[in-house]
Amino acid sequence: MSRVQRITVLGATGSIGLSTLDVIARHPERYEVFAVSGYSRIDELLALCIKHLPAFAVVPSDASAQVLRQGLKAAGLRTEVLVGEAGLAQVAADPQVDAVMAAIVGAAGLSPTLAAVRAGKKVLLANKEALVMSGALFMQAVRESGAVLLPIDSEHNAIFQCLPGDFSRGLAQVGVRRILLTASGGPFRETPLNELNEVTPEQACAHPNWSMGRKISVDSASMMNKGLELIEACWLFDAKPAQVEVVVHPQSVIHSLVDYVDGSVLAQLGNPDMRTPIANALAWPERIDSGVAPLDLFAIARLDFQAPDEQRFPCLRLARQAADAGNSAPAMLNAANEVAVEAFLQRRIRFPEIASMIDHVLNREPVVAVEALEAVFAADQRARVLAGQWLDSHGR
Ligand code: NDP
Ligand code: MG
Repeated sequence: MSRVQRITVLGATGSIGLSTLDVIARHPERYEVFAVSGYSRIDELLALCIKHLPAFAVVPSDASAQVLRQGLKAAGLRTEVLVGEAGLAQVAADPQVDAVMAAIVGAAGLSPTLAAVRAGKKVLLANKEALVMSGALFMQAVRESGAVLLPIDSEHNAIFQCLPGDFSRGLAQVGVRRILLTASGGPFRETPLNELNEVTPEQACAHPNWSMGRKISVDSASMMNKGLELIEACWLFDAKPAQVEVVVHPQSVIHSLVDYVDGSVLAQLGNPDMRTPIANALAWPERIDSGVAPLDLFAIARLDFQAPDEQRFPCLRLARQAADAGNSAPAMLNAANEVAVEAFLQRRIRFPEIASMIDHVLNREPVVAVEALEAVFAADQRARVLAGQWLDSHGR
């Protein structure tokens, strides 16, 4: 490889952001941090600037910029501080940048991720919500700009690794019958159904296998995460929803599988540590050390598989409904879910009400075509209004 690659890490203060910076720091001869962004954790962002010496840091407001600038000055650093969406778009699209890690959580990540795509960058996509919201427009932008889109979500990175290099010719053309998307089942896989009403945010965020941000942890507990991933897989691999089957696999060792017409099934295995897919995408098509321990199959001893229980996990059914409906439905599903998860984390609704709120929003509004980004944001806003109304009448 020729020169050092410059990386922008959007959402650097989060779980994926920190894992990305960990992998980058292991390979100073290959990578340097060009820019980082944070939102609420400005002290952590300052510590990351001191450690990784980026040229730019992006924060959401003038007030947080002032705090960060003071800290940078005291540390004798010359990192330039940028503010808001314009700042995020700038560091995503800067001509000096080789790759962008899109690891902002939720709909807030869509605009900066698209800025990186439109600038034709190598885009490492963790922010699944961006693709779920705007799938057709997002993939069209990838094709038009020539951006290289590499999945970070462990399942999608696994599928990417199990597919042939020319899979974009079409799954049928390369002999794929089905994609098998594995799911851990989260912390409530075996909780008695009548106890789900009482589960707390702390219990929902205590994932048995993965350490993640709070939003995706709740999504994993409700299995909405798998629903979003189903939609994500359809866009990334040009699959029909019916071609993607969810398989509950509690050990989270097999990260997903591809089933071929000749009966071969290829799987990718590894310890549940996001540094593996991050290192895979950063170095692709080469391989680099990620810091993840080798897999010890003797310690794991067994791998189990179950069909998902849609009575326990109604969010999975709602996501499939949105995947089948397409158009504005996935953006509405995503927005309603973001409002519901936040309300659950604030103890305003009970865990099973996450699905009730989304069901209400999805079935309240006709599905409309989304031919421009404005229509995506309009669907997102409409769903947030409907979810807010539901919350006012049902929430605490
Ligand atoms: P975290 O909550 O740990 O981090 C989220 C990041 O986004 C933080 O840097 C946060 O800043 C920033 N952020 C939050 N809100 C905003 C906003 N409105 N505008 C700009 N930045 C914002 O989440 P994760 O790292 O767990 O997840 C990030 C993305 O990756 C999600 O889309 C998730 O679905 C996906 N993902 C995560 C996996 C994981 O293992 N964690 C696995 C697969 C996918 P701050 O912390 O400073 O407030
Ligand atoms: Mg995943």
